[in-house]
Amino acid sequence: MTTTNINSPSETDSSTEQSQSEKPVRRSRRRKTAHLKMVPSSKDQRESLRLKCQAIADTLDRNLPPSKDELEALCRQLLIDEGEPEGYLGWIMVVLSSCFWEEQIKSTPHSRRLFLLPHCLKHAEGCPADYDEFGLACKTCGACSIADFRASAEELGYKVLVAEGSPIVLKIIVSGHVDAIVGVACLNVLEKAIDKIMLAGIPCMAVPLLSSDCRNTSVDEDWVEQMVRVPFEDSKQETRSYIHLLRESSKLFEREHLERLVPRIRGGKSLAEANGQGVGALDPIAATEAIAYDFLSAGGKHSRPFITLAVYDAVSGGEATLSHGNEVVADYPDAIRRAAMSIETFHKASLVHDDIEDNDQFRYGAETLHIKYGIPTGINVGDYLVGMGYRLVSRDRQELGAETAADILDYLAESHQRLAEGQGAELIWRDSKNRTLKPIDALKIYALKTAPAFEAAFYSGIRLAGPAEPYLKPVRAFARNLGVAFQILNDLKDWEKDDDNKRLVGGDLLGGRPTVLLALALENLKDEQRTELLDLVNGRSDLSSEQKVLRTRALYYEAGVFAKAYQLVDKHQQKAEQVADEIQPDELRRLMYYLVDTVLDHSAEVKPTIDIQHLSFNEVLPIVSIGQSS
Ligand code: SF4
Repeated sequence: MTTTNINSPSETDSSTEQSQSEKPVRRSRRRKTAHLKMVPSSKDQRESLRLKCQAIADTLDRNLPPSKDELEALCRQLLIDEGEPEGYLGWIMVVLSSCFWEEQIKSTPHSRRLFLLPHCLKHAEGCPADYDEFGLACKTCGACSIADFRASAEELGYKVLVAEGSPIVLKIIVSGHVDAIVGVACLNVLEKAIDKIMLAGIPCMAVPLLSSDCRNTSVDEDWVEQMVRVPFEDSKQETRSYIHLLRESSKLFEREHLERLVPRIRGGKSLAEANGQGVGALDPIAATEAIAYDFLSAGGKHSRPFITLAVYDAVSGGEATLSHGNEVVADYPDAIRRAAMSIETFHKASLVHDDIEDNDQFRYGAETLHIKYGIPTGINVGDYLVGMGYRLVSRDRQELGAETAADILDYLAESHQRLAEGQGAELIWRDSKNRTLKPIDALKIYALKTAPAFEAAFYSGIRLAGPAEPYLKPVRAFARNLGVAFQILNDLKDWEKDDDNKRLVGGDLLGGRPTVLLALALENLKDEQRTELLDLVNGRSDLSSEQKVLRTRALYYEAGVFAKAYQLVDKHQQKAEQVADEIQPDELRRLMYYLVDTVLDHSAEVKPTIDIQHLSFNEVLPIVSIGQSS
């Protein structure tokens, strides 16, 4: 399909409109931010700084959301100019960002805004409210300001939620119920959650809490009232946003859209329509299809179809990121949608097979397919999904053009093989009797396991828009470095305490995964400790699982593994950003930076300062049940 005026890297005119986000910029590296979350103590000081932020926001190009780095540079300069401490940086970035987005909030009707409040504002000792699926169900007892804020906002037509500003917020936005967010949150939450919302170009204003104590907190109440009362003006303020593309990619696998875009071949009932009688009540020939369709619409973040659609848009002019992007996306041919679905379908197939290989019990809040239907059926449904992934492209070869379809299929097939090689290397290592590992080998496995999916999603988007040749090398380098950095961050998160997601600390070690952390430890430990670690990894130790995890973690600290791994993340992130800096068109570069910022979530960090060897198991080892990934 050639819908496009694709600009190859060498063809693009670099003299196009320049603004704060269009110039290649070096990104800041991961760093600790705890000391940057001070709140100015006096109200006068806060008011004065807010006025300065407003003045700066008025000078910014409002067509493009500022990146985090740009915001940070502006705020650092402001603090220097005003002689204020660096510690206010996090606070002032939220204030400046809110000033920037106020114009866009104005163009959103109140009824399309979500007002988000933190439950820590409640009166902790006497609050009679309970929690339901939407957060805290305030009983308006009057003991805290939540009830008043809520009443003011609801009177104007806002949807109000008293909950932590986390994935639920993005979910509500992506599902299409609201178009903008105003909220109150502590700087920790704002850094982790709302930051992602801002990066996606979703209009968002926030008033930071005056403390991050999580209990009986307070806020500048007049600022909150002003924020809620930002009027609706039918203006045409337009700031680029990925929201239309995020919504479209999330919609693809909703039951109704899935059935329309890919009608069932066997035409059987869905499992829901089998009235709870299970798969046995279905026509046996239609049963595999029914399980597969159910699994496809069961959940997931849909980041791969988003990449395909967003890349397609970026190299086709970037119209879908403008305010009328919903109309642009609605006009996409279904063949484009199905190609985007293809990548996700392969991913789902790999999840089914991975769950069998790792004997995982749960996926998307339900039993994994092999637990529910048995291993043979699980394998078979995975195979069905592989076939379906290819057909999602091949069936549209007329509309896409035979050459385009063949190129995409070839890339998918190659990616599929590389993925299987990476997974195979991991499984063979896991099942070997004498496991040892070098960092280079771990990184090779990562490059094979994680990068091909990013790469295939990117390639498909580019090829759907036109010739892909000029992009092959940069896209491969970008995907490889992004994928490797992502995987190392995942390894690091495996050692974090995570009460929210009930994740098992040290799960990779106990599950026998060949991680770069292990490889770095083996490379850096002294002989005696290396032998001890190899004994732990190879099952030659009498320690319990908890003790193994504890001892391994101590050895990792001793070898400086966590700091070294973060250096590797930084290195691969820099390489991905170098590719982004040189790519054209600007829309594609912006998308690459967006992906770097959202995929590589640096907000959490393993704290290397605790002397865990001298703490008890209970103090350092939160062993909880295994969470789910998507
Ligand atoms: S006003 Fe609502 S949230 Fe605040 S203490 Fe009363 S019931 Fe709880």
